[in-house]
Amino acid sequence: MRILVTNDDGVHAPGIEVLEAIARELSDDVWTVAPAEEQSGAGHSLTLAEPVRVRQLAARRYAVRGTPTDAVMMAVGVVMKDHRPDLVLSGVNRGANLAEDVTYSGTVSAAMEGTLAGVRSIALSQTLGALEGEAEPFECARVWAPRLIRALLDAPWTPGVLVNVNFPPVASDAVKGVRVTEQGFHDYGRLVIDQRRDPRGNPYFWFGLGPDAKVPGHETDLKAIRESHISVTPLHLDLTHYPTIPALRGALAGLADTAASG
Ligand code: MN
Repeated sequence: MRILVTNDDGVHAPGIEVLEAIARELSDDVWTVAPAEEQSGAGHSLTLAEPVRVRQLAARRYAVRGTPTDAVMMAVGVVMKDHRPDLVLSGVNRGANLAEDVTYSGTVSAAMEGTLAGVRSIALSQTLGALEGEAEPFECARVWAPRLIRALLDAPWTPGVLVNVNFPPVASDAVKGVRVTEQGFHDYGRLVIDQRRDPRGNPYFWFGLGPDAKVPGHETDLKAIRESHISVTPLHLDLTHYPTIPALRGALAGLADTAASG
């Protein structure tokens, strides 16, 4: 089994070293192709208006000056062109990728891109919270990920489906279980925009996140993490909202007639 390791925190981030070690527990054939710089929040963006450059750092280890999606595209299309991966692992992200945050996530998007390339893909994120600043914040992921990935590889895989794994912010021996979850929704006003002033008096801004408001039924993957479980969510890229289709078809049915008569 050939594994492609990537991430969105950048090829020099501590989490990717953790993931490379995890991958080497599963296979001798591990390749890393990851963004040269931090790309958290890059989502599924793709570089189109400038060239994408690849630099080899070591044997089977490459930095791509671009987004996580660029990195997976370069891996599958160029770097590993003749050594196609059987598995894409993305992470281990520094921080959770839960609920609708998956749509901002470069970590999850790299797994999406792997899935689009027809390769089985898993995103892995370590929730920090209480672990922030700890000597080994990725301990939970490091200990649990190899057996979890093995179990996922033994499970049936539907092409087009990726798996989003989040580890809770606790030590590995405090994990209460593994829960297969639905993608939840944060309930906001969670966005906090912090305005500061530079030395010239001009304002600048940082996006931050305030506390969640809890609404029952919106918790799912969020709840699993809060209850010290590992959250495993199957995701797919079909964003269609099927229940709306009939109503919308009905509402728009007369438009062509109107255009013809008008
Ligand atoms: Mn990140």
